[in-house]
Amino acid sequence: MRDKDGTIVIIGAGASGLACMNELVKTNKYNIIVLEQSNKAARKILASGNGRCNVSNLNMDIKYYNHQDPLIEKLIKEFDVVNFFKQLSLKLRYEKNLVYPYSLSSLSVKNVLMKNMDNVSYIDNCEVLAIKKAKTYEIITTNGHYQADKIVIATGSPASHLSGQNNLKMLEKMHISMIPFTPSLVQVKTKPVFKALKGQRVKGIAMLYDQNQLIEKQTGEIMFTDYGLSGICVMQLSRYLEHLKNPKLVLNLLPDIEKEEFQHYGLEGFFHEKIVQVFKEKNIDPRCLEFKIIDTMSIEKAQVCHGGVSLKEVDENLQLKKYPGIYVCGEALDVDGDCGGYNLHFAFASGVHVAKSIKK
Ligand SMILES: Cc1cc2nc3c(=O)[nH]c(=O)nc-3n(C[C@H](O)[C@H](O)[C@H](O)COP(=O)(O)OP(=O)(O)OC[C@H]3O[C@@H](n4cnc5c(N)ncnc54)[C@H](O)[C@@H]3O)c2cc1C
Repeated sequence: MRDKDGTIVIIGAGASGLACMNELVKTNKYNIIVLEQSNKAARKILASGNGRCNVSNLNMDIKYYNHQDPLIEKLIKEFDVVNFFKQLSLKLRYEKNLVYPYSLSSLSVKNVLMKNMDNVSYIDNCEVLAIKKAKTYEIITTNGHYQADKIVIATGSPASHLSGQNNLKMLEKMHISMIPFTPSLVQVKTKPVFKALKGQRVKGIAMLYDQNQLIEKQTGEIMFTDYGLSGICVMQLSRYLEHLKNPKLVLNLLPDIEKEEFQHYGLEGFFHEKIVQVFKEKNIDPRCLEFKIIDTMSIEKAQVCHGGVSLKEVDENLQLKKYPGIYVCGEALDVDGDCGGYNLHFAFASGVHVAKSIKK
């Protein structure tokens, strides 16, 4: 392919790669190639928010991410998600602070992100295995070799079964510092387990302790499973587990109910009969249920991962300091956030940031 202002290869057709591509195609200056390992683009976008795609959060703050890094803070705050999707002709709607496509369908998000695909070369079933620096960059894939003046690594993390498993393999021999991927926003295995309550959802406060010290608490939905606990509350707390020695969860399923009221109504007045049965059998007080956390579920079950390319390796353009012309965005970077649109927001923001840096 003959160069215009050069060839840019974007590796990964997910949220960050597609956001980057859409910003780059605005100027007709580059040959753009998008390489995708699977046979489908945007698979995590489709799965996001239970198919509704929670694209962002109005309450945007660096405290909802794993690094209190000034560059990441600037990037997430400067990115205007409404305008980004307005330019792609997608109207958004709000449910409290959560931002969704107006259609409440993740397919709408995928479709608008893909509508400029005709202006680029898109190659799927093409897994990138290695990058070699020559005069330009050479990209070695399962589907041949590609030359690039600039490369955007937008390969995400191995979280969930919807991802590739070799997200950063291409960097392995390039002496780039990478934090190993571990599951975040993931269900937990507990002791005890209430198998009979599998699938039962309750609302309450979940408190995470380590060595009897309160680490964090969350209010919201908790789900019993046959291995332990799930639900947004529990997934949020799973983000803190990595460095804890002896974590336990304490649930209060009646946080706003006085003792007298509880005595008046009894368990039957508040809970599903399956829950009543188990709680009675085991003499459980719903205001104080303790679970030892044995482990998290595996990366394939997680929504997001901790880990990725260390922020120390990139400059303010998210360009690798050791390899000018190679940029990293989205979950491939060691940045992850809470549930509630923070991860997609960062994926879009960082993808657009990289594209703007390239255009500069
Ligand atoms: C079930 C589920 C629900 C979620 N819900 C939400 C939500 O509601 N809100 C929210 O903010 N976040 C949500 N997330 C997280 C969010 O989807 C991700 O953080 C986001 O998609 C990451 O974007 P990305 O571009 O970094 O990676 P991805 O979207 O994963 O894209 C990476 C792409 O690169 C490809 N790839 C990987 N390795 C290679 C390789 N070697 N060569 C070529 N291609 C490669 C992958 O196949 C993939 O298409 C959810 C995640 C899951 C799994």
